[in-house]
This record gives sequence, structure tokens and C-alpha cells, in this order.
Amino acid sequence: EYTQPTLLDDAVIAELERLTPFAPLHQPHNLAGIRAARHAFPGVPQVACFDTAFHRHHPWVNDTFALPRTLYDEGVRRYGFHGLSYDYISGALAQQAPHLAAANVVVAHLGNGASMCAIRNGKSVASSMGFSALDGLPMGTRCGQVAPGVLLYLMDQKAMSAAEITELLYKKSGLLGLSGLSNDMRTLEAADTPEAAQAIDYFVFRCRREVGAMAAALGGIDALVFTGGIGENSRLIRERICERLDWMGIELDRQRNARNALVISTELARTTVMVMPTDEELVIARAARMNMRAGRDPQHARCAPYA
Ligand code: AMP
Repeated sequence: EYTQPTLLDDAVIAELERLTPFAPLHQPHNLAGIRAARHAFPGVPQVACFDTAFHRHHPWVNDTFALPRTLYDEGVRRYGFHGLSYDYISGALAQQAPHLAAANVVVAHLGNGASMCAIRNGKSVASSMGFSALDGLPMGTRCGQVAPGVLLYLMDQKAMSAAEITELLYKKSGLLGLSGLSNDMRTLEAADTPEAAQAIDYFVFRCRREVGAMAAALGGIDALVFTGGIGENSRLIRERICERLDWMGIELDRQRNARNALVISTELARTTVMVMPTDEELVIARAARMNMRAGRDPQHARCAPYA
């Protein structure tokens, strides 16, 4: 229902409240911020930008789970997140590498939250995140993909409540859970424990696997773009993810990679590998400005950060 930045009024806020069961950990906090800003700045318009909106063109097979259809109909879908970041990257790519604007591009947003997105012609085709921001790649403290049977085991055999499982999956898993040390990649890179090394191994393995999955969803890959705190800054993680991807035309130039250059692949590599800093706030600011210009008709407000 929310595929565009939307001017907030009482009706939209009530509608967003109704959606709270789909994101009980996030929606109440976002709405609290909206209410606090309304209270502090009465009469100042507010525009809501949705981190899921960029993924709304997904084909049905990338939008559903293999569950009874009634659940899809009531909203149990693969929404995908980090959409504001992917929107920024696809706009920046069109400006900085126009020959790739219509290409098959895999973007890896690797930070405390981590996901990948398959983009063709500037549009999202698939995302590693699903119904919640837990799915897909392992993250700082979030588990990433986990077999549903594990959750049944935790409930049945360990009598864990929904709240306890939520805490485990969102706050105690990922790099932190595997390393027993930290959710911060810099700390893990500097540590010399076998657990820290294994946490990095797992992160790298799942990222590499996901690049393959995204390339398969696109039917090929022309470019791989790294972004997010780890993607923009970690020479080591980029190098390790790419080191066994030569079969898909990926070949890093070590010196360019070491200095976080815009293009870090070799001249002759079939697939271009890039590093691009993301800027979700700029996408939000530009969407809000366009929405204001378009007046109060949300049909005319489009998220086009480079317009
Ligand atoms: P973000 O959530 O996008 O701000 O990214 C945060 C993550 O980026 C943390 O795991 C940081 O440790 C990681 N990060 C930031 N700078 C570096 C760096 N120079 N090397 C490795 N990881 C980094």
C-alpha cells in the first residue's frame, strides 16, 4: 500500500498503526518519533519514506513464501528492506557509471544490518531480506537466514517464549553470537580468537553465496557494488567475498581495493566491482522536498533522488 513517500495525516498515521503487528519491534518506535515531532513542531508537514518501497516491483515468486495463500493475502510477504539505500545506490550508479544504469547489478549493503539486492534497469528484482529484517545475511547481532525448525525446537524443547526468541534472534545472534566477542567487524578483524575468525568466515561465506543467488535471480551479473559500513571500509571482507567469484568474472585489483576506490575490479574483469558510500538521509530529504513541491497530492510525489 505504501510504495511512495507519503505525506502524513491522521488517517495515514492510523493506517500505519494498524500495520504494527507486521513489524512490532520497529513500527511503534517510528510512530512515536512522528508523534513527538508533531507535538514539538505543530503544523509542520511530515513525509514518511518506506524502506520497503524500492522492492515493490518484485515478481510474485520473490514476493511470497510457500505458505498457504491466505497468509500472503493478509500480508505475510517478502517485503525486503534497505530500500532507501538501494534507491540511493541505483541513482548514484546512473550518474557515476551510466553504462551500468540498465545492467544487472548486485548491491551488497553490509553494515550492522546487512542485505543484498538484485537490481535490473534501476529496479529491485530480488532481496535477501524477507518479512522481517532478520532474514538473509548474518548481521551484527541478527541471525540472518535460519531454518524455521530451529524456532520450533526453541519453543518445544527449551520452552522459550516469543519475547525470548525475539531477543535471541535480533540482539544475541549474528557476528556477536558466533564470536562471543563483538558485533563490530573492526573488533573482529583485530581479534585473534578462533571464534572471531569463524564469525568472519561465516559472514564471508554467506555473502559470497548470496552474490551467486542474486546473480541467478538476474540471469547474470554486470556489476557488484559494496556499500554500508563494512562494504565501504573493509578491504579484507571485500577481498574475501570476491576471492572465489572469479568464475563470474569478478577479479579485484588489490591496490584499488586497499584504497576504497570507486572501481576496485581490474581493467579486464568481465564484472565491474565498485565501492559506493550510501546516503539514505539524502534520499529521504529529496523525497520530502519533492513531496512538498507536489503539494498534498501523494500521486505526484515520487521518490526520485536524482531528479
Ligand atoms: P553501518 O551499520 O553501516 O554503520 O556499519 C557498521 C559496521 O561497519 C560495523 O560492523 C563496523 O565495524 C563496520 N566498519 C566500519 N568501518 C570499518 C572498517 N574500516 N573496517 C571494517 N569494518 C568497518
